[in-house]
Amino acid sequence: MERTVRIQAPLPHIKSVNIWLLRGDPLTLIDTGPRTDEALVALEAGLEREGLRLEDIELVIPTHHHLDHSGLIATIVGRSGARVAALDRAAEYGARYAERSAADRSFSLELMRHHGVPESVIEANEGFWDFIRDTSDAYETDVVLSDGDVITAGGRDLRMLARPGHSTTDALLVDEASATAFVGDHLLAGISSNAEIVPAAEPTGSRPQARIEYLSNLRRTASMPLHRLLTGHGDPVTDHRGLVRRRVSEHRRRCQRILTALEEGPANAYAIAGHLWSPRTVSEQPVLVVWEVLGHLDLLLDETRVSEHKFDDGSRYGKAWFSLPAQNACANDAGAPTLGARETSTLYSGVDRSAESE
Ligand SMILES: [Zn+2]
Repeated sequence: MERTVRIQAPLPHIKSVNIWLLRGDPLTLIDTGPRTDEALVALEAGLEREGLRLEDIELVIPTHHHLDHSGLIATIVGRSGARVAALDRAAEYGARYAERSAADRSFSLELMRHHGVPESVIEANEGFWDFIRDTSDAYETDVVLSDGDVITAGGRDLRMLARPGHSTTDALLVDEASATAFVGDHLLAGISSNAEIVPAAEPTGSRPQARIEYLSNLRRTASMPLHRLLTGHGDPVTDHRGLVRRRVSEHRRRCQRILTALEEGPANAYAIAGHLWSPRTVSEQPVLVVWEVLGHLDLLLDETRVSEHKFDDGSRYGKAWFSLPAQNACANDAGAPTLGARETSTLYSGVDRSAESE
């Protein structure tokens, strides 16, 4: 009998989220799906195929706090009495879910205003945050783990490793004996993970540079001797080093496209997004495109290839007059930018690169 079973729960915009059933002692779920009737039905049907019921679950571990990974924790605990184990920062977020997601929401509204998103577009997209609020629940954590701690789940030892970037609470759960890791949305086979820009757990006074943190954590993961990465969406990853290389080169390409857009003169982040995505994507997913553009601008700012000028009505970015030798993902631009290419974002987990050549 398979010791690790994938159960897929439906999720708007990105098709499905993976819930991982770990057979063994204690019977464990890694991630849960969102708090929707459809996801609960899919989870229960998946357990039934294994001869199990929701009431049998003994332990639940979210890879991070996002609604599609933690939304059903409270429901599962209510039905089964399962314990919850989580990385310290995911435990903290879960305990104050409504308060923390409301803070993320108001921070993002200010961020969008500062970076040129029109008020009408902001208003038309309030549903994004309503969805986040309404498809999850607060959860209490019984076993709070620190970075590097080991927990027994489904008859194996899993090491919890903090890997923030995609979210502030991301973790890997690594089964060193089989070189397998549960990675949530840290690295996905079919889509490039986004890096959300929300208030840091411990405020530093400046905007978090989530994309820079994400890439540096991605490189740490690439250096690990892993055979199989079981992801939060889509299929497992078996060549994680090759995939990280590909993701890094995609960043390089997008940085180059931003530099090309800035040839026309300084612009705000939302206007830059208009050069990278279709008008529909930009107006329907303003939060995601602003996060994406700012993350890449951070890489370019870091290399002094771009400069930021703050005005009363927001920030503009322009090409720097000179640059120092570059060191991060945007260094050594490969080839010409793919002007006119279109990319389609998928809500919440990332940007679908497969649609890039539409
Ligand atoms: Zn996520």
